[in-house]
Amino acid sequence: MGKDRETAFEDLIEKAGGCAVIDGGFATQLERHGAIFNDPLWSALCLIKDPDLIKRVHLEYLEAGADILITSSYQATLPGFLSRGLSIEEGELLLAKSVKLAVEARDSFWDSVERTPGHGFNRALVSASIGSYGAYLADGSEYSGCYGPEVNLDKLKDFHRRRLQVLVEAGPDLLAFETIPNKLEAKACVELLEEENIKVPAWICFSTVDGENAPSGESFEECLDVINKSNRVRAVGINCAPPHFSESLIYKFKELTKKAIVVYPNSGEVWDGRAKRWLPSKCFGDDKFEFFALRWRDAGAKLIGGCCRTSPSTIQAISKALKNGPAQRK
Ligand SMILES: [Zn+2]
Repeated sequence: MGKDRETAFEDLIEKAGGCAVIDGGFATQLERHGAIFNDPLWSALCLIKDPDLIKRVHLEYLEAGADILITSSYQATLPGFLSRGLSIEEGELLLAKSVKLAVEARDSFWDSVERTPGHGFNRALVSASIGSYGAYLADGSEYSGCYGPEVNLDKLKDFHRRRLQVLVEAGPDLLAFETIPNKLEAKACVELLEEENIKVPAWICFSTVDGENAPSGESFEECLDVINKSNRVRAVGINCAPPHFSESLIYKFKELTKKAIVVYPNSGEVWDGRAKRWLPSKCFGDDKFEFFALRWRDAGAKLIGGCCRTSPSTIQAISKALKNGPAQRK
């Protein structure tokens, strides 16, 4: 990997004025376009059934002003694909495809705006999503942190290893470990990046339920201690937690790490796991995101976006707030 690619992450943050915009909820937007998810493989299924739709959603987020696209691989795992009757080779091709689709969307978007004077967009980076072990189990354990006594460090590394290799080979600009619920899995990610000599810059994001600790109950101090030792992890933060937790956690993380801080909360709607539906947010519309994005930036976040139930209009609101929005395309 050349020098440019190694510094591309920091360069982008600088170009974006000190705080880059990440895209928003992926499955949410697929659903708006009519995709149906009542399957543990969730948005990964779309890689098989409707890759054009994935590209379309990436393009919508770019139009909205996203500087970073997260690939559709959050719940795409080799064991998950195998359980659906796919071969390992087919599963690996689908993982690579998730990166390829985002890169294609980024390139075609950039081709179309690059020569427009004053367009206000940045050439986006593609971050390969690596969901936690709990996201693969699809039993809510990414929000409880309880993987049970039989899940140890080696098991978590084995779970992540091949997918990480395949995603890296597909050529993303960044890696996004998402909704990590405990210290053990953070450690597995850090050790794996080292063991596999991964040169692609990574971020690690935790989920949180109480707004103060990792879902496992372990303190973020303990969790970040593990991550601070790694130069391969360039940013740490929180994703898929309610937005009102973000500000205090940014302040907390600032005390605990020198790494860039990333937040991409969900919309504040509450997932009712038993009924398998979203209960409405008490009060967190796009206008609130516009307001809070500025506070999160001022608190020290370097990357801000949205997770579940946020949409291109959320990202547009964030982008508008942080950099007066991309210029309207003629
Ligand atoms: Zn989410």
